[in-house]
Amino acid sequence: MSLASSLSRYVFHPLWDLKEGSRRLRILRELERSQWLPLEVLRARQRKRLERILAYAATHSPYYRRLFQQQGFDPKNFQLHTFRALPLLTKSVIRASTDEILSTEFKRDELGMHKTGGSTGVALTTYFDRDWIETRTADAMRSDQWARCYHGMKVASLWGNPPIPRSLKGRLRALLRDRFVYLDTIDLNEHSLSAFIGRWQREHPEILFGHSHSLFMLARYVLDRGIHNLRPRGIISTSMMLLANERQVIEEAFGCKVNDRYGSEEVALIACECEQHQGMHLNIEHLFIEFLRPDGTEAEAGEEGAIVITDLLNRGMPFIRYRIEDVGVPSARTCPCGRGLPLMERVTGRVADYLKRRDGSMVAGVSLVERTLTAIPGIEQLQVVQPAVEEIVLNVVRAPDFSPATEQALLAEFRTVFGAGIDIRPQYMERIPQERSGKYRFAICRV
Ligand SMILES: [Zn+2]
Repeated sequence: MSLASSLSRYVFHPLWDLKEGSRRLRILRELERSQWLPLEVLRARQRKRLERILAYAATHSPYYRRLFQQQGFDPKNFQLHTFRALPLLTKSVIRASTDEILSTEFKRDELGMHKTGGSTGVALTTYFDRDWIETRTADAMRSDQWARCYHGMKVASLWGNPPIPRSLKGRLRALLRDRFVYLDTIDLNEHSLSAFIGRWQREHPEILFGHSHSLFMLARYVLDRGIHNLRPRGIISTSMMLLANERQVIEEAFGCKVNDRYGSEEVALIACECEQHQGMHLNIEHLFIEFLRPDGTEAEAGEEGAIVITDLLNRGMPFIRYRIEDVGVPSARTCPCGRGLPLMERVTGRVADYLKRRDGSMVAGVSLVERTLTAIPGIEQLQVVQPAVEEIVLNVVRAPDFSPATEQALLAEFRTVFGAGIDIRPQYMERIPQERSGKYRFAICRV
């Protein structure tokens, strides 16, 4: 660790917390210990926290008070099967009942607020209390450590609309505490990429962090230009699914393993890979996580299920059995690292990324893209858009080894998956278009 990083970690970070009255670093120290506790101990704690937030919601949230009464659910007499019978909290319920869900214990302006952009077309506003934001930050800091990233280190960050500090306080914080070198992913071009790499070579960030696909784009750029001196000690990929072929390219470009992370703004860090890269450790200390089949029963290990989250700490806006609209695979394996936190195998996609066949069955769009990229040579990037059930547009970025056979194989693959009689149209482009947030989507179903 450099001197500046050590100063930031051991002096400026603690001073900042002291001045702000933040419990962030104290929570982090506790989390550093608790990750090694046996699973049964962590499960017992989780159960207690679950009962506590349910009791809290029954008392302070008019929405849950009414819901629990209607369902005959009594948090004081907690039973898992009655809990699992509670209806799911969906994004449309949140939009329709925000005021009722919010805790009466807080005034609205005491809560933090987050608006998620509308990559699926509809925006969502959620709230959280101050204690929750400190825990959420500590959760992220602990999982940063699994990528050999400690607070205070300088981070090369690939992010859409990065914050630009304007106040003196903000500038001081950026200089001493949050030490970032940003590349704005909204605007990836020759000029911004080469300026970013120039800054990297001067400032030597220790960690690379960003949206999975933006990391890949940077990695490609670096490899194509034969740049070999960008050597972070850790790479954290987040915000979208990390495709297997993209992981390979990123690791090759920077000579370093990638730690994949999964979370969302509404409930923060859900799961993260440790240094063993054997799946993702679930954040069961602060979340109760279910994987559900379409009929609402629990998916088994190795089986895909819709991810449903109960946030154990956010009292400002309790999230109980929240259907996050992602699909993932739980695991029964234990990780060789020895942490007690259980594993999930992977996230297989967002519900919104599922494409539809004419018979009504669904295809995991991102997994299909991943498989196609692995199986068919000549394609650099692929995005599948389905404007109508019988129409599929393939946005293709060609690789140097692209040939007419590539297109034939691509069309054949998609005909096999979607059946004959579907209009499949390849469209060749320089790069995959981004969302406004700077993120990318590989599969877009508009049906
Ligand atoms: Zn592990």
